[in-house]
Amino acid sequence: MKKILLLTTGGTIASVKTDKGLVPGLSGEWLVEKIPQVKTLCEITVKPILNIDSSNMSSSDWLVIANAIHEGLDNFDGIVITHGTDTMSYTTSIVSYMLRNLNKPVVFTGSQLPIDAEGSDGVINLFQSFQVATSDFKGICLVFNGKIIKGTRAFKIHSISEDAFVSCNYPYLGKFQDGKVVLEQNEEISDNLEFSPKVCDEVVFVKSNTWYKAIYS
Ligand code: ASP
Repeated sequence: MKKILLLTTGGTIASVKTDKGLVPGLSGEWLVEKIPQVKTLCEITVKPILNIDSSNMSSSDWLVIANAIHEGLDNFDGIVITHGTDTMSYTTSIVSYMLRNLNKPVVFTGSQLPIDAEGSDGVINLFQSFQVATSDFKGICLVFNGKIIKGTRAFKIHSISEDAFVSCNYPYLGKFQDGKVVLEQNEEISDNLEFSPKVCDEVVFVKSNTWYKAIYS
C-alpha cells in the first residue's frame, strides 16, 4: 500500500467557528477521519507544519512548505498539502519553481467550507487529492472541485463558489471518472530533482483590472 504524507497548513478546510470568525483549529488526523474510504487507498502520516489563514502567508512560510515537501519526498510515495484557498495558487506556483523535476505527486487542496460544515466541499476535495497522490502523476498540482490543475497555472476566480479555481491558459491535467483519476497530461521530466529553497522579497506587485478582464471576459 502506498505511503502518503499529509502536511497541514491551516486554511478554511481546517477551520472552526469562533466569536472572531473562522479560525484554523482542526488537526490533520481529524481531516482524515472525514474521508474513511481513504484507508483502502493508502497509509497516511500527518505532519502539521503551519496553522494559519493563508491570507497571512509570507515568503518564509513558503520556505517551510517547500522544505517539508523536500524532506517528505524520500520517505513517501506522494504528498497532500491542505492550504487556505486565498493564496493557495501563489504557493503552488512558487513551490513549483523551488522544486523542479519531481518524480512523485505533490497535491495541494483546500475548501470553501470547513470540513466539519454540512455539505462541505472539503470532503471530496481531500479524498480526490489522495486519489491523485496515489496515482502516477508527477509534479505539483492543485485539486479542487474535481479539477486537477498544474501548480503554476492555478488561478482563484471565486471566493464563495465551490468551483473556485481555473487553469489559466493550460489544459487540466486530468479528471475524475467513475470514481477514479484519469490523467491526461503528465509531463516528461528528468530524474534530477532540483531544489532551490530561495525567495526574493524585493518585488512589488502591481495589480491591473484591465489584465484580469482581458483574460476572463
Ligand atoms: N481565508 C481562507 C484562507 O485562505 C480562505 C479559504 O481557505 O478558503 O486561509
